[in-house]
Amino acid sequence: IYSYEFVYYEHVLIFKDRKVRALPLSGHVGLDALPDQLVNKSLGQGFCFNLLCVGETGIGKSTLMNTLFSTDFENLESPHFEPRGKLRARTYGLRENGVQLKLTIVSTIGFGDQMNQQDSYQPIVDYVDAQFESFLQEELKIKRSLHNYHDSRVHVCLYFIAPSGHSLKSLDLVTMKKLDRKVNVIPVIAKSDTISRAELHSFKMKIMSELVSSGVQIYQFPTDDETVAGINGVMNGHLPFAVVGSTEAINVGNKLVRGRQYPWGVVQVENGSHCDFVKLREMLISVNMNDLREQTHARHYELYRRCRLQEMGFRDTEPNRKPASLHQTYTARRQEYLREFHGVEEEMKQMFVQKVKRTEAELKDAEEELQFRFERMKRLHQQEKKRLEEKRRILEEDMNSFNKMRAAVELLQAPSFSTAGKKDKDHKK
Ligand code: GDP
Repeated sequence: IYSYEFVYYEHVLIFKDRKVRALPLSGHVGLDALPDQLVNKSLGQGFCFNLLCVGETGIGKSTLMNTLFSTDFENLESPHFEPRGKLRARTYGLRENGVQLKLTIVSTIGFGDQMNQQDSYQPIVDYVDAQFESFLQEELKIKRSLHNYHDSRVHVCLYFIAPSGHSLKSLDLVTMKKLDRKVNVIPVIAKSDTISRAELHSFKMKIMSELVSSGVQIYQFPTDDETVAGINGVMNGHLPFAVVGSTEAINVGNKLVRGRQYPWGVVQVENGSHCDFVKLREMLISVNMNDLREQTHARHYELYRRCRLQEMGFRDTEPNRKPASLHQTYTARRQEYLREFHGVEEEMKQMFVQKVKRTEAELKDAEEELQFRFERMKRLHQQEKKRLEEKRRILEEDMNSFNKMRAAVELLQAPSFSTAGKKDKDHKK
């Protein structure tokens, strides 16, 4: 039998679009052990799950994580004065009934604490993209080691909404919108013990309608698998979950329960009529953890990968709709790159020549300016020299005439002396 459709024949499922000839088996060959092999391998390797908590400082992220995983993660109190929001990632190994989980909890620090909250989402988006990028780089390596690669792609984002009872803040809407195509977003109403039942009901409705009208696509628990379709369908109607976190054990009716003790009573974390904590834990961990991982790989990472490869110039088909081979794409891209490179090189050469010309012209101008100043100084100097020489000549002339006058005066004085001497002699005689 040749078929392009699903064929179910002798317990053998043959996949669509492949021309496969289905054959009957005349005895047991052990194909039915394949699922067990998969389970054993997965158990041996362990699982990895990466959870991102987005919410303002003090909204209850760390407490909820401790409550969810029934443990005490090392929690450092975050300050409210971060100049820019950032993220802290911590990885832990958890083990339950022989199943190992490598859990990474990424938490925002200082989210929305800044005066200008416009770009508060940016560090989160950058973090999510950076994890996709490092997976893509590993995939593109010639020698890949994906089997022991620590996959840090974010599988789910728990978005903590403040229990204001009013509406979502614009920061909430903007951040969820920026994230919804990159990660599975599950909104939760934090500290829901601080809001009354009636208010909570209308708050949930308001949040959902705001998300819809803003086009934010939050994660929907899948309903295509009939084993979980029922419960997932019901739980989708309870979103966003209203949660309460606490690791404190309180005695209620001779039973130790986790809750928060108030003067008027105890809010029990695991009591479905007090909050949706159990619903969240069931949906996140017991029922849909694998779907969250698969959606991350098949939907969000796939989108990232497609955009990045297209950015790098790879196409599946050529403009003439023929399938493009990797080699052709690489060669075309290389040529394009070389063309661009030569263009830039030529441009830089031109710029260099222009710059040299400009500098030469500037130097010439400076030289001319200097020459002009030199000539001017020389002229001034010569004029000054002439003026001084003239002055000197006049002085010398003055001196000459003075000397002449003095000589004349001396000459005039000389005969009167000799006449006087003669008179004396005559008188003595
Ligand atoms: P983070 O900064 O978001 O990690 O917040 P924390 O988990 O450190 O919690 C900050 C404060 O809120 C602590 O005093 C917690 O005890 C309290 N808190 C945490 N969860 C809840 C909750 O569900 N209800 C109430 N009322 N308080 C909570």
